Amino acid sequence: ESEKKVSDQKVQSKKPSEPAVFIPVDRLPEIQEARLKLPVLAEEQVIMEAVRENPCVVICGETGSGKTTQVPQFLYEAGYASGSGIIGITEPRRVAAVSMSHRVAKEMNLSTRVVSYQIRYEGNVTDDTKIKFMTDGVLLKEIQKDFLLQRYSVIIIDEAHERSVYTDILIGLLSRIVPLRNKKGIPMKLLVMSATLRVEDFTDNQKLFRTPPPVIKVDARQFPVTVHFNKRTPLEDFTGEAFQKTCKIHRMLPPGGILVFLTGQAEVHSLCRRLRKAFPFRKGNTTTETDTSETTRKFKKAKQKKPVSLPRIDLDNYSALPVDEGDEDREAGIGDEEDEASDLDIGDDPSNAEVKADPSIPLYVLPLYSLLAPEQQAKVFRPPPPGTRLCVVATNVAETSLTIPGIKYVVDCGRVKKRFYDRVTGVSSFKITWTSQASANQRAGRAGRTEPGHCYRLYSSAVFGDFSLFSEAEITRRPVEDLVLQMKDLNIDKVVNFPFPTSPSAEALVAAEQLLVSLGALKEPPQTGRIKELKRAKLSCPITPLGRAMASFPVAPRYAKMLALGKQQDCLQYVIALVAAMTVREIFEDLDRPAGTEDESSKLTQRRARLTQMRRLWAGQGASLLLGDLMVMLGAVGACEFAGCTPKFCEDNGLRYKAMVEIRRLRGQLTNAVNAVCPEVAVFVDPKMTPPTEHQVVCLRQIVLTGLGDHLARRVQVEDVLDPKWKNGYKTALMDDPVFIHPTSALFKTLPEFVVYQEIMETAKMYMRGVSAVEAEWVPELLPQYCHFSPPKDAPSPWFCSTTGTVRCHRSSSFFRVGWQLPAVDM
Ligand code: ADP
Ligand code: MG
Repeated sequence: ESEKKVSDQKVQSKKPSEPAVFIPVDRLPEIQEARLKLPVLAEEQVIMEAVRENPCVVICGETGSGKTTQVPQFLYEAGYASGSGIIGITEPRRVAAVSMSHRVAKEMNLSTRVVSYQIRYEGNVTDDTKIKFMTDGVLLKEIQKDFLLQRYSVIIIDEAHERSVYTDILIGLLSRIVPLRNKKGIPMKLLVMSATLRVEDFTDNQKLFRTPPPVIKVDARQFPVTVHFNKRTPLEDFTGEAFQKTCKIHRMLPPGGILVFLTGQAEVHSLCRRLRKAFPFRKGNTTTETDTSETTRKFKKAKQKKPVSLPRIDLDNYSALPVDEGDEDREAGIGDEEDEASDLDIGDDPSNAEVKADPSIPLYVLPLYSLLAPEQQAKVFRPPPPGTRLCVVATNVAETSLTIPGIKYVVDCGRVKKRFYDRVTGVSSFKITWTSQASANQRAGRAGRTEPGHCYRLYSSAVFGDFSLFSEAEITRRPVEDLVLQMKDLNIDKVVNFPFPTSPSAEALVAAEQLLVSLGALKEPPQTGRIKELKRAKLSCPITPLGRAMASFPVAPRYAKMLALGKQQDCLQYVIALVAAMTVREIFEDLDRPAGTEDESSKLTQRRARLTQMRRLWAGQGASLLLGDLMVMLGAVGACEFAGCTPKFCEDNGLRYKAMVEIRRLRGQLTNAVNAVCPEVAVFVDPKMTPPTEHQVVCLRQIVLTGLGDHLARRVQVEDVLDPKWKNGYKTALMDDPVFIHPTSALFKTLPEFVVYQEIMETAKMYMRGVSAVEAEWVPELLPQYCHFSPPKDAPSPWFCSTTGTVRCHRSSSFFRVGWQLPAVDM
């Protein structure tokens, strides 16, 4: 079938559709002047000709050459948005979608009603929208609603070099949609834009495009950048090294902005603080350093006042502890997209005696990372206050998606924080690893945008030589069950045949289908005995009605299953709140973080004690405690909403404000999605949601179990513990080694015999996160697909108990591969 589609495209490419109109744009003179300097302008003719003559075109050009801001304008002027179709541009990052839409609106002198954006939770798209920036995930959802994407006349896939999973899938889908559209006589174009020249995965891929699309290279207007390697490579404290280097540059080198690349939000803030301390920025009316002044103000206030109690929340209604203020000296904020890890590096290192900072030259220090508030991000594009030097401390968001003007010096730590999955066990961990040569060179390139620059690499040239050449496509590094479900919902049954630019491994695809079959989202076709056929059948299971419902929820399949079951026993609002909390990363402040100084350490100990107490309160007692960490999350969401979800409440109670705001939005979104699927329950988001009853908590635990069935673990029995490493350990189905309940878990003291967990994170030990207790008899009942039932002596097994309406299994039943003995259920 796919071959037929490709040949359609060939035919179509001979019959280009040519918009006849030219739509004038009324730009401001200074904008027009700046545009003309962009290298991509020189290629406008070539690009537009290629677009007219080919259904798909690839554009490569250095970051800053003007691809993102200009190409949509070329298309607009050429009339691609003048008919019924509009121009869509996808970005892998929310930051880019929002800020680029604003920039393009400004350049074109058009309102944001016309040049708009749509990201997961928000957008300003109107009926007048002609150019729409969006995240790649948003477009993927739209394909589910309308496979032909009839609203669009052009789709631009931007930042394709990042190889984000959704980008890869979109390119695969669009390689089929575009010819299909053209065949139906509704012409459509696809543009793929990349900051690197490495585009063979898209162009020389027979599965994707039978005729390779033309590649247009935009010459970089790049000034030479001198690269300086360190003699030695600091192994641990690269933030400290970055501090030293930045201070040196600032004190000794001529004017020009400094851009520092670090790995995550915590390091970014830590370095910003140190630099601000070393080179204080005296505030005039231009000041924008709200966070420091805010901290000082609050700190002063706290010194004057005795600890204040917050309005006390009714214990029956989730509760908050009284807190003392003044505990401001810590990191706030939540995981970045590129930095989802618990923040590792917190606290200043006061021992920087070697660098005698000269405080007379102010350094205008700005942080930059994905989840920074848009107003804060926008600051990096504005000129720094006169008489200061701009210094932006960024994560790899500044590598290609955003171009910061006026950078002459780049300080590159050479590292990147990445999430790693073990495909077999599902264990994930965050690791800081070396980046690739391609990405290090991108970083260096940021220094040569306006004049010759310098890049200081905080590692040796030998280390650089060992970097991999390019970063791997994300799709090869993560589980793919969500993508497989989305594709099945698009009726792509044979996912193995899908034209991925880089295909996930067959194992990963099989694992995904198996999980989806056990969740009931896919149906295993009737099995013939032959192994070859069986293998093929395993990779082409069709979607079930439950699967379709699950696919309509914007969360991973395990959580989607919970939502699908949630309407029972009046549990839906709790399931929604819980799923929202479980799918947003890092809602709690990290209590495990190391403290820098002794003073900080004692403060942290106090705070830890208080927050632990708070969490215990949220976990509740008795029945509710058994929902474990998930009850703590539910309690946190309930309490936070009850208190109006203010930054202060979050701060005081060890919640990450941004995470709580995201949960709130997600609750709204999930509520709409659930109502669309089962309108008869009509659930709404209740800001004063009361805690679940004991009865409901039991239901919630069961609902959670049905979603996390493959994440069941059983405490090791005393008699099994021969090896001390198994003490208090849990056995899971997939691993030989024990896993543990984290000391901060609500169930750390309880140690229930059976638990389910959200995920296993490898830190000091293999720790389960998001642990909830399970009753043994629920397992055969709710997860029969995971159980082996051996027939009991005098009854068939499993057998039905008509009084309770349940399925029970006998003494000798065992739990999948592990061969666990389940307790007998006496009837
Ligand atoms: P590319 O997509 O090729 O990396 P862009 O289109 O993003 O390039 O950027 C082109 C130019 O526009 C850059 O020189 C950049 O400095 C400028 N630019 C982009 N966004 C803004 C903004 N918000 N304010 C000012 N200049 C901007
Ligand atoms: Mg760009």
